[in-house]
Amino acid sequence: MLVPMRTILDTADRYGYAQGAFNVNAVCQAEAVIQVHEMFRSPAIIQGADLANGFMGGRMDFMNATLADKRKGAKHIADAVKRFGADSPVPIALHLDHGRDFESCVAAIEGGYTSVMIDGSALPFEENAELTREVVRYAHARGVTVEGELGVLAGVEDHVFSAESTYTSPLRAIEFFRKTGVDALAISYGTMHGANKGKNALLRKEIAIAIKECMRHEGIRGYLVSHGSSTVPQYIVDEINGLGGELAETNGIDIRQLIEVSHCGISKINVDTDIRLAVTRNLRELFAKHPKLRDSASVGAVYELLEKNRSASDPRVFLTPLMDTVMYGTVPDADVEEICRCIRNGVKEVVGTLIVQFGSVGKAQKTKPATLEQMAEYYKKAGGEG
Ligand SMILES: [Zn+2]
Repeated sequence: MLVPMRTILDTADRYGYAQGAFNVNAVCQAEAVIQVHEMFRSPAIIQGADLANGFMGGRMDFMNATLADKRKGAKHIADAVKRFGADSPVPIALHLDHGRDFESCVAAIEGGYTSVMIDGSALPFEENAELTREVVRYAHARGVTVEGELGVLAGVEDHVFSAESTYTSPLRAIEFFRKTGVDALAISYGTMHGANKGKNALLRKEIAIAIKECMRHEGIRGYLVSHGSSTVPQYIVDEINGLGGELAETNGIDIRQLIEVSHCGISKINVDTDIRLAVTRNLRELFAKHPKLRDSASVGAVYELLEKNRSASDPRVFLTPLMDTVMYGTVPDADVEEICRCIRNGVKEVVGTLIVQFGSVGKAQKTKPATLEQMAEYYKKAGGEG
């Protein structure tokens, strides 16, 4: 069933593990994310990034996606998640990643998202708090969970870019929770967006510990989120480059550090890059193993894009010839089914690995399901719009 994200984070916090949150850019990726969570009996958080919604709304040059594109895409992916997830035995949240403004959050909620992130981290503190507060007011009245961000992560993720990190101040984090009433907060503590996080990236887990400790003292019930946390499996990068890819140096976050922070107050870990890499590897492998697909009327153009973009590892670059498949999950012939199968398998490989490592295996039964209406009631009781 579809639930607000807060109910899933409640469980992660209570049992001291981290819930993986996985980004998708196409309907069959959402399908695979749900299937693999069912296999491991884990709650699931599916994420659509702001511009991924633009892409799933049919905008091939998704960097220029308009609000209208995002509105369409949000509806497409939410419809798909409902189709695959409505009768699922595991609780599923659909979360907007890096919502850029109030309107994008509204578009996602209207489309059927049960959780949104408003990323005001580039703004001065007061403006960030003000914007986040505005989204919280709108979302909580509808039972929808809100994630904010404080501190700046280095790296590139769609339109989110920064050259340098600014670590989150624990004092400011407490103030931010109080001022905004936000459910979850993405903090900057050493992770980084993108496929190259530098060698030996070191997470300052004491930042998470300090914030959580102060929250306990102040009676604030909220959760901390780790962005830019892909592990970037080296074997997948090597395989891509062995199959004609030309990926430059890549470095992820050591999984041992992520497991450690999952016991130090980080309740949600976002992963996007790992999925992109596994899907890219599978696409390359498919055309290497089945050369006749290169001339396929329906998927030959995907092969051409792989050839033309050897240094790319974002499947959105390769999938533009199959926009109906991306947006609606349409499978017109056996060749497209092959593409979908290798996309789903790529998703399952990395997501399954991380469900086990982050510790959410078997936690579906521990999660108290709540509807949006029940959550709206909860927020009302908890204090006004709070
Ligand atoms: Zn992020």
